[in-house]
Amino acid sequence: MKKTDSLDDRVNDTKTRDTVVNMLNERGVTLNDIAELTFDLQKKYIEELTMDVCMDHVERVVMKREVQNAILTGLELDKMAEEGTMREPLKTMLQNDYPLYGIDEVLALAIVNVYGSIGFTNFGYVDKLKPGVIRRIDDEGKNSDRCNTFLDDIVGAIAAAAASSIAHRYA
Ligand code: MG
Repeated sequence: MKKTDSLDDRVNDTKTRDTVVNMLNERGVTLNDIAELTFDLQKKYIEELTMDVCMDHVERVVMKREVQNAILTGLELDKMAEEGTMREPLKTMLQNDYPLYGIDEVLALAIVNVYGSIGFTNFGYVDKLKPGVIRRIDDEGKNSDRCNTFLDDIVGAIAAAAASSIAHRYA
């Protein structure tokens, strides 16, 4: 890769990083919330793990282009479903978080995939137990006009990817 290309990429990614972090914040999720999930996932394996380390790895994850693209796509679809600016039958499927839809999990795998197979295990764990902020997102999607169909999976996947990034570092 040419030097100028990589510099352009970095500048663009930083801009997109801010955009996706703002989008998550608008949906009520901070990077700190995600780092807490990552901490829970990894604390049993790494005794000296701190929240600062988790935050650092969450930051690395949201700098990746594939991750940014997944966040942009998923959160936009949630918003469109919520505002009703999307056609049927997708609108009703997303508004009701239809269990057989499944593309929310598939999109989240694009995030998990960046760090290989440990990511899948961690993602499955978060998806099943719905710890911390995931539970809140899930309840909010069920009990209000909010559509969080993609949000829960995206947040779980970022936490799982950061946990995998930490696992690789400490392996
Ligand atoms: Mg979902």
